[in-house]
Amino acid sequence: MTRSQVLQALMQELAARRSEPLSRHTFVQVGGEADWFVTIRDSESLIAAVRAAHCAGVSLTVLGAGSNVLIRDGGIRGVVLKNESRGCEQVGEGRIEVESGARFAVLARSTARAGLAGLEWAAGIPGAIGGGLPTNAGAYGSDLSDVLVSVKTISPEGEIVELPADALGLRYRDSELRGGSLAGHIATSLTLQLRSGDAYASLAEIDRVESLRKANAPTGPSLGSIFKNPTRDSRTAGELIEAAGLKGTRIGAAQVSELHANYILNVDVARAQAVDFLALVERVQSCVERHAGIQLEPEIAVVGEEAALG
Ligand SMILES: Cc1cc2nc3c(=O)[nH]c(=O)nc-3n(C[C@H](O)[C@H](O)[C@H](O)COP(=O)(O)OP(=O)(O)OC[C@H]3O[C@@H](n4cnc5c(N)ncnc54)[C@H](O)[C@@H]3O)c2cc1C
Repeated sequence: MTRSQVLQALMQELAARRSEPLSRHTFVQVGGEADWFVTIRDSESLIAAVRAAHCAGVSLTVLGAGSNVLIRDGGIRGVVLKNESRGCEQVGEGRIEVESGARFAVLARSTARAGLAGLEWAAGIPGAIGGGLPTNAGAYGSDLSDVLVSVKTISPEGEIVELPADALGLRYRDSELRGGSLAGHIATSLTLQLRSGDAYASLAEIDRVESLRKANAPTGPSLGSIFKNPTRDSRTAGELIEAAGLKGTRIGAAQVSELHANYILNVDVARAQAVDFLALVERVQSCVERHAGIQLEPEIAVVGEEAALG
């Protein structure tokens, strides 16, 4: 069998779709097409797909909920995996092993209901736990590094590796998975240590966290928080953007939120293009640099290719 036949056979087995618009699979509803698109429902299929792509010599990109990624208008070459592996099992006292496609919101509520405390902060995060690993997702003073014990990953060459949390270099919205020594590794499952707690208290905390979000963050298609908070200024990225007078600034369908200046919204889904979001990101960066002398660093991942001209 040739490399291309290996890929074709596996893609058929995994019910892959050709030329799938990725705007259907991102929270901001923007993104060009994937050559091959596969929905993954368990870790075993994820591992098989990574190994097949490696054997066939095609590139592979994994998406969770697509809530922290901007995909350029030319789409993604090779195989895109939409990770919906969501299994979870208790593996010790307060300890769970969860597949990487599990959604934060569901996990926060199900663990709270089971009397396990420690994930309440994550209730309003719209992504998957594996997608939150490269940026060490967090909110309200907590983040993944507070609960993570270890991670199973698959390397781009198809090798399974189990890593203790320390090896990931988790830090504020960054880790070794983001362009560092573990770039290209895909998390298949995470082991978390939670505390024994009171279900009612945890669920009440989740309700509190969710109402805080409703009051302070816009709803609808968006890229969430675009920029990291700077370390050499006491102001948040949102405060700096607001102080530069950028609330409401719009390029095409991309608009800086009036409610939370670190959010860029998609206000015209039918016409939205990634190129407008990228132009707005650059405009915000240059205005804030001129106004406050601070270089804002994006928190989101930008992937894929520019659209062909013409
Ligand atoms: C409205 C809104 C609110 C948000 N609030 C928060 C918040 O409070 N705190 C916060 O930290 N983030 C927040 N985010 C960002 C985002 O939801 C989180 O970072 C989330 O965990 C990303 O998960 P995802 O599945 O959507 O990742 P995706 O967007 O699908 O992927 C993000 C990156 O991770 C990579 N990736 C995906 N899965 C894996 C995997 N299994 N292994 C390795 N790499 C992987 C992708 O290739 C991509 O580069 C918010 C976003 C939105 C839109």
